[in-house]
Amino acid sequence: MRTTEDSYLHKGLRKKLVDQIREKGISDESVLLAIMNVPRHFFLDSAFEKQAYEDRAFPIGEEQTISQPYTVAYQTQLLQIKPFEKILEVGTGSAYQASVLAELKAKVYSIERQKKLFEANKKFEFLKQYRSLRLFYGDGFEGLPTFAPFDKILITAAAPYIPEKLLEQLKKGGCMVLPLDEGDNQRMHRLTKQLDGTILEEKFDEFSFVPMLIGKRG
Ligand code: SAM
Repeated sequence: MRTTEDSYLHKGLRKKLVDQIREKGISDESVLLAIMNVPRHFFLDSAFEKQAYEDRAFPIGEEQTISQPYTVAYQTQLLQIKPFEKILEVGTGSAYQASVLAELKAKVYSIERQKKLFEANKKFEFLKQYRSLRLFYGDGFEGLPTFAPFDKILITAAAPYIPEKLLEQLKKGGCMVLPLDEGDNQRMHRLTKQLDGTILEEKFDEFSFVPMLIGKRG
């Protein structure tokens, strides 16, 4: 069962978490404020409230995880989101990252391949406040051609290669942030589609994500 109470104790734990993430190198104050505003314990079973404010990934069922807060902040910072930008997220999972993006006033289109996780999020009351957040059940490798192009694309699972269809759905001037498979770990990449259509590739730190898998799971 989920909790719906956000007490002073929770806010205090969240403030400590934000301080830790800042110490690890996240400097974008709008991202830190979004982390401060989203009650991460709402996204886990109430039995794991304490763990919600530790800076680590945590199981959410279906062999999936809610990403580590530092990783969420890291990917969000690389995206350099401005209000009203259209963002495609691949891998809704717990919808925590999607909520952080919605806090930044982005228009979020988030896809999940696991039906159970998608359905749980559809019933998740907290998410209803984010009118700019839309959830889809599907295969992220296909993207959402009906809603393309996107200003930014975020992949929150380890991509085995750069999904070509997603690059096609990216606006010129936009960027895609993704962890690319390099064996056990993945290196965070930012691919910027330049105005002449060429792709600028930048590489950042290493992370460890669950794999991005082809096809839907019912
Ligand atoms: N963003 C999530 C959050 O805030 O909780 C964390 C995501 S978890 C690390 C990765 C998610 O990507 C899982 O829920 C997994 O089912 C999903 N996923 C993996 N491959 C996918 C694909 N091809 N399309 C859509 N979702 C996918």
